[in-house]
Amino acid sequence: MSVLAILEQRGSLKPCALETASAANRIASEAGLELDAVYIGESLGEQAAELAGLGIKRVFCFEDTALACYTNDAYVSIVADLVRELGATVVLGSATALGKELCASVAARLDVELIQDCIEVWWDGALMARKPIFAGKVLTDIRVANAPAMASLRPNVTPIVRDGTALPTLVKRDVSATRARTVLKEAVMAAPGTVELTEAKRVVSGGRGIGGPEAWPVLQALCDVLGAALGASRAAVDAKWIASNHQVGQTGKVVSPDLYVACGISGAIQHQAGMRTSRIVVAINKDPNAPIFKICDYGIVADLLEVVPLFTKAVSGGAGS
Ligand SMILES: Cc1cc2nc3c(=O)[nH]c(=O)nc-3n(C[C@H](O)[C@H](O)[C@H](O)COP(=O)(O)OP(=O)(O)OC[C@H]3O[C@@H](n4cnc5c(N)ncnc54)[C@H](O)[C@@H]3O)c2cc1C
Repeated sequence: MSVLAILEQRGSLKPCALETASAANRIASEAGLELDAVYIGESLGEQAAELAGLGIKRVFCFEDTALACYTNDAYVSIVADLVRELGATVVLGSATALGKELCASVAARLDVELIQDCIEVWWDGALMARKPIFAGKVLTDIRVANAPAMASLRPNVTPIVRDGTALPTLVKRDVSATRARTVLKEAVMAAPGTVELTEAKRVVSGGRGIGGPEAWPVLQALCDVLGAALGASRAAVDAKWIASNHQVGQTGKVVSPDLYVACGISGAIQHQAGMRTSRIVVAINKDPNAPIFKICDYGIVADLLEVVPLFTKAVSGGAGS
């Protein structure tokens, strides 16, 4: 019996993999269980050093060029078979687009319970998971009494906690028997330097208040100096000012960055559902009564087209004007 952490990679280990391992380590120590992890990808190689001090005893490595990119059938078979083999009590993945699909498919394959998009997990005689519901208005604690219990953890909500420098044992697995019915022919990657919205530490979002698509370069300039991802409200997406993969909210992506800058966004409850767990929220809006000001840490009542360039200049070291 053990806790199994799924280590997500895209070429290299993602920060959310280390967060998931940290959360799994907490559960393992509270439950008195050992912590194992699974890596599926081309090669873990020297990245194994990043797993030091996370309490992982063994990492089961399924390495092959054919496994470099996610395919549902290959990844699901590997994880489901491993969960059965280890008799895992708890299985934890990341609540990224990939992680949510993988966890849901594994849970369906094993016919077990899964709590998706948790903001906290712990052990209390069984897996406990906290997650926002009703568009983020309510936090609910769920107890999963059956084993194996599965949960996926929202990126950026769990600190990476290391205790010492102990490295896990790498257990290389033969992947020759892994049969994938799907073949990935091409993976179209985002442009180099593009920050994935759901895992970004900083997000700058624009809403209807930006006035039109010609204003995106103003926000993008701020993104560039902050190293931020570009988000949008549904109003901006519905107006076809930006592609829907930028949408933040109830029917868009959920983000939990350290910094969320909302530009010309009123702060409707459906938008809040996607950004409410951000650590610091800065709102720029002309209307002092906009609901976004009720949930922000710093509010600027002004025209965003005047303020955002000043913000960009200040961050890039040109403050003073
Ligand atoms: C089922 C359902 C699901 C939904 N899902 C989502 C979702 O996932 N994400 C989402 O965002 N919405 C979602 N919505 C829509 C949501 O209810 C709001 O309509 C939407 O968020 C409004 O977008 P907005 O804030 O950009 O636009 P508005 O509400 O029109 O706000 C624009 C703001 O810009 C300000 N402004 C105007 N000009 C300037 C300027 N020059 N400088 C500064 N401020 C300015 C205005 O004062 C105003 O506050 C959903 C709605 C429903 C019913």
